[in-house]
Amino acid sequence: MAKSAYKRILLKVSGEVLAGDQSFGIEPKFLHAMADQIAEVAKSGVQVAIVIGAGNIFRGMAVAAKGGDRVTSDLMGMLGTVINSLALGDAIEQKGLKVKVYSNVPMETVADTFTARDANLALADGYVVVCAGGTGSPFFTTDTAAALKAIELRCDVLLKGTKVDGVYSEDPKKNPKALRFETISHEEVIAKDLRVMDTAAFALARDNGLPIIVYALDDKEGLKGVLAGRARSTRVG
Ligand code: UDP
Repeated sequence: MAKSAYKRILLKVSGEVLAGDQSFGIEPKFLHAMADQIAEVAKSGVQVAIVIGAGNIFRGMAVAAKGGDRVTSDLMGMLGTVINSLALGDAIEQKGLKVKVYSNVPMETVADTFTARDANLALADGYVVVCAGGTGSPFFTTDTAAALKAIELRCDVLLKGTKVDGVYSEDPKKNPKALRFETISHEEVIAKDLRVMDTAAFALARDNGLPIIVYALDDKEGLKGVLAGRARSTRVG
């Protein structure tokens, strides 16, 4: 593969990716397709950290909107990310890579508790690092956890796969004439009110100079193509 311009990356994977064409749970076919893409990149020498969501299992806000306690619901959401992280970690391990799953919600018989120091050492040692449990606090999302972990782990870039191939001037599904940006600054994203990630996540990325690459998850070039600059995408920052 063409060489990645990045030595260490943080990949944000939405929970829905693991559900594939189902609305709930983990479909092995999609789990392994994601793991294959990650393994390919990791085997080429890129250090890979991953944050995964839980949209395929549980979203706190959706439950709170129906009367559930928000804090409890968010704790349940965070537990969902632990399930996904264990599944993805296992699938990546099956591709022949060393994997460490850390949890930001302490649960010592399930995963090591996340510390930036340990996770940094593991990455430098060639482990794929999966960061479970979001930020460990309610009222946040795994987008925010992804920005936070990318900064803590000194990643060169945060990759966010979405349904569209980058950041557009408007929603391309509503306006087919919307323009896609090749590159755009954090400031411009804010000024134009383009929703790349939720506000807390984006503010962290902006304040810490963390570049974000937004790409389409179904791009045939896959993650390696994105890193090699062959896939359509937008670079923020
Ligand atoms: N969550 C949380 N704190 C965090 C990260 C996640 O409370 O730092 C909870 C929250 O309820 C959220 C759920 O975990 O709805 C799943 O995360 P997210 O919605 O970001 O998953 P995704 O949409 O990426 O699959």
